[in-house]
Amino acid sequence: MYVFIFSSELERTLIAVKPDGVQRRLVGQIIQRFEQRGFKLVGLKMVQASHGILSEHYGELRTKPFFQSLLTYMSSGPVVVMVWEGHNVVQASRKMVGQTNPAEAPAGTIRGDFSVHVSRNVVHASDSQEGAQKEIQLWFQGKDLLDWDCCDQIYTIEV
Ligand code: UDP
Repeated sequence: MYVFIFSSELERTLIAVKPDGVQRRLVGQIIQRFEQRGFKLVGLKMVQASHGILSEHYGELRTKPFFQSLLTYMSSGPVVVMVWEGHNVVQASRKMVGQTNPAEAPAGTIRGDFSVHVSRNVVHASDSQEGAQKEIQLWFQGKDLLDWDCCDQIYTIEV
C-alpha cells in the first residue's frame, strides 16, 4: 500500500543565489540542479537586499570579523531568493551546495563547481529545518509561496 505525502507536510528550505552568482549568470544552472534532483520550487524572487534584512538573516554571525564585509557583499547587487520543497530538502540542499569554504567543497557540489573563495561562494542554503522556517518567514510572505501539484510528484515524494 502506498501513502502519499501532501505537499503542505513536506519540508521546505530557503536557497539564495548570492550577488556573485547572479552577476556570473549562474542562476539557471543552480535552479536546474534543484529541479533535476526532484525538488519543487514554491517561491522565487529577485531582490536588492537591505542591510536590515541581511543583518537579521545572518544574525548569528553578528560578532564575526567578516560580518560587515558579508553585508556589503550580499547587498552589492541583486540576489535570487527561492523556497524549495521536498523530502529531506534541507539536508539534501546542504550536501548539494557543499562546504562554506569552496576550497573544501567537492567537485559536483555547487560551491565546489562554481566558486573558489569563502567570501564569494555563490549560494546560500538553510542549515536546519528551524533555520529554514525562520528564513522563509523573513524573506517571503505566505501568499507568495504556492502550493501547487507537480505532475511528477508521485515519483519524487512517495514514501
Ligand atoms: N563567510 C565569509 N568568511 C568566512 C566564513 C563565512 O565571508 O570566514 C560568509 C560566506 O559567504 C558564508 C556566509 O558568511 O556563506 C555565512 O557563513 P556560514 O558559516 O553561515 O556558512 P554557510 O551556512 O553559508 O555555509
